[in-house]
Amino acid sequence: MSNSALPGKVWLIGAGPGAADLLTVRATRLLQQTQVVLHDALVSEEILQLAPQATFINVGKRANEPSSTQSWIHDRMIEAAQTHAHVVRLKGGDPSMFGRAQEEVDALKAAGIQCEVVPGITAALAASADLALSLTRRGVARSVLFATPVTGPGEPDNGWAVAAAQADTVALYMASNDAAAVRDALLAQGRAESTPAHVVMNAGRANMRSVSCTLGTLPEALASRGRAPTIVLLGEVYRHAEGRN
Ligand code: SAH
Repeated sequence: MSNSALPGKVWLIGAGPGAADLLTVRATRLLQQTQVVLHDALVSEEILQLAPQATFINVGKRANEPSSTQSWIHDRMIEAAQTHAHVVRLKGGDPSMFGRAQEEVDALKAAGIQCEVVPGITAALAASADLALSLTRRGVARSVLFATPVTGPGEPDNGWAVAAAQADTVALYMASNDAAAVRDALLAQGRAESTPAHVVMNAGRANMRSVSCTLGTLPEALASRGRAPTIVLLGEVYRHAEGRN
């Protein structure tokens, strides 16, 4: 690769929920062409195998390790683009959904590096497909909220719950660690204890598992999740709808 191709370009690619055949055709083509792949811990081996020619850099977040801070990830991306023409930054699900993609795009732009985002299937959509249960339904649900109870510095604690009281259907990301607090926040905002819900673990993967419950029994339903990535779907759209599993 001649130096005139440097710095290279970075593609921020959504890897979807884990199955390689849930990648877009564009993402697959870019993976087959790339020289470097910087990936999250959640990205599956099956997907990494689409780029056997590439050098892999695992930038997955491991709690309390200074090496995996966001700015460390930015530095690795910039470094890769300064030494390679074609770089892929692979992120679980869709990059723009709770993936800190904007910070990565901004850091690349500030460093004068071209970048492009390729969408992926976000967990809520993979889970809905697994259950064969639609997020919207005529006459029952025509708004969907993607939310997380996890707050950033300075964010109000219950902002998500206020929004979740208004939306017909709610998809909750990263909601498993403090399930009782999540339930209580939603009850405090006026959502009924009987609101039907589904907890979906490993959505979009061969080992997908789901538990149907209500807002009131959400903590019990989440207790069985182990270490699997888990999404919570909640709303009247799930009443009288048992799902496929
Ligand atoms: N960008 C990702 C979300 C990153 S936040 C996306 O678009 O899906 C990480 C959270 O996403 C997890 O805590 C979990 O709530 C959810 N998640 C990611 N992959 C999942 C999967 N395969 N099944 C269920 N939930 C998943």
